[in-house]
Amino acid sequence: MPIHVYECDGCGRRFEALVRGDREPSACTGCGSAEIERMISPFAITRREVDQIRELDPKYKQMVDDLIASTPEAEPMRHLERLTSFDSVDDPGEPIEF
Ligand SMILES: [Zn+2]
Repeated sequence: MPIHVYECDGCGRRFEALVRGDREPSACTGCGSAEIERMISPFAITRREVDQIRELDPKYKQMVDDLIASTPEAEPMRHLERLTSFDSVDDPGEPIEF
């Protein structure tokens, strides 16, 4: 079942509709106007293409996760390495009174 994109002449809204056979939507999903027009085919997405995009999803997500893991911010020891241990610091003196 193809998904077609329609544009409303009344409010300008664009919306998608799953079309079964010849049963096209009769009104705008926004304003209810019957003055809707199907957009030309490049905008139409078939069910199969949607499934293909969904199949790509986990790989794409993994790719993003890998990229995030390779950034310096993802290294958990990054902050610990910057810390100065207590025993290597000069005597800070008397505690400050507030
Ligand atoms: Zn409308």
